[in-house]
Amino acid sequence: MTNSDVDVVGGGGGIGGLANAYALATEGHSVRVLERAPEFAEVGAGLQLAPNATRILRDWGLLDEVLAAGVSPRRMVFKDALDGAVLTHLAFDDAFAQRYRAPYVVIHRSDLLTILVRACERAGVDLVPSCAVEGVSADGDGAVVHSAHGDHRAELVIAADGLHSTLRATLSDDVPICSGYVAYRGAFPVARLDRRLGRDELNDITVYIGPGCHLVHYPLRRGEIFNTVAVFASPAYRRGEQEWGGPEELDDAFADACADVKEGLGSLWRDRRWPMYDRLPIPRWVHGRLALTGDAAHPMLQYLA
Ligand SMILES: Cc1cc2nc3c(=O)[nH]c(=O)nc-3n(C[C@H](O)[C@H](O)[C@H](O)COP(=O)(O)OP(=O)(O)OC[C@H]3O[C@@H](n4cnc5c(N)ncnc54)[C@H](O)[C@@H]3O)c2cc1C
Repeated sequence: MTNSDVDVVGGGGGIGGLANAYALATEGHSVRVLERAPEFAEVGAGLQLAPNATRILRDWGLLDEVLAAGVSPRRMVFKDALDGAVLTHLAFDDAFAQRYRAPYVVIHRSDLLTILVRACERAGVDLVPSCAVEGVSADGDGAVVHSAHGDHRAELVIAADGLHSTLRATLSDDVPICSGYVAYRGAFPVARLDRRLGRDELNDITVYIGPGCHLVHYPLRRGEIFNTVAVFASPAYRRGEQEWGGPEELDDAFADACADVKEGLGSLWRDRRWPMYDRLPIPRWVHGRLALTGDAAHPMLQYLA
C-alpha cells in the first residue's frame, strides 16, 4: 500500500521532528510525521532553551506560549560540587537579552512537545503515531518511506528519529559510541519535595561541577516543578563490566560532594537512567532526498542540562 503523497515525510516526532514539520508546514508544504511511539510524548524532565532556540520559537510565533509554560531563570550559577563555593555566574539580565536578542528559558519537555503538537495541528501537519519507519528508497524523482503500516511517498524525507536512528543507516553504518557517563533525572512538584527550597534554587539554574560528575537543578512550569539532573562517569563501565551506572554508583560518584549536592540526589528518579552516547561526525547529513536532523544527525553529550 502506498499512502497518499505529501511533500515531506518526517521520520520521528520528538522535539526535532515536530519543529521541522511545523517550519515546513508554515512554508506551505504538506507534511506527514511518522512516530514509532503510540503517542507524541516526551520524557517528563526539563529542557534548557538557549537564545539560539528561543529566537526561532519567537520567529514562529510560539515564544509567548513557551514563556507562559516555562520559567525565565534569573541566572545560571556555577558552583564547586565539593565545597559548594560559587565559581562564576551568568546573569540573564537586560544585557544578556540585548546581546543575544532572545531569552534563556527552561521548560518541561512535555510542555514544549505539547506546544509543538498543537502548532503542527493548526498548521495542518498529518501526525501519525504508532508508525515505525523501517527505511527509505529512491523512487523516480521522489522517495518512499517504508513503515510497518505501508509506504509513504514524498519529495523529501527528513530523519528526526533520534540517537539510534534507523534512517541514518541509509547514509552511514556508524553506531552510537558510549561515553561511559550516565545521567539520572528527576522532576517533582515543589510541594511534594521533602525539603524547603530557597529563593536562589527557585529562580536560578544551578550547576555543581565536580571531578567526573556534575549536578544541575532548576525550576520548571512557572516554578511548580523542581528539576534535577546528575551525571557521572561510571567506574564499572571503565572496568568493562556489563552492568554499570546503577544507583549505588550514583551515590559513590557524589560521596565527596557538599551537603547541597547530596540533598539534590534525593530529588532524582532512581528507577531510570540515561547512559550517554555520542556519534562520530559523518561527511554529510544529506543523501538524495533524505536529510538527517537533530540527534539522528549530530547527537551531543550534555554538560549543563
Ligand atoms: C540528560 C539529557 C539532558 C539534555 N538536556 C538538554 C537541554 O537542556 N537542552 C537541549 O537543547 N538539549 C538537551 N539534551 C539533548 C536533547 O534532549 C536532544 O538533542 C533532543 O531531544 C534531540 O531531539 P530529536 O527530536 O532529534 O530526537 P529524540 O528526542 O530522540 O526524538 C526522536 C523521536 O523519534 C522517534 N523514533 C525513533 N525511531 C523511530 C522510527 N524508526 N520510526 C519512527 N519514529 C522513531 C522516537 O520515538 C522519538 O519520538 C539533553 C540530553 C540528555 C540525554
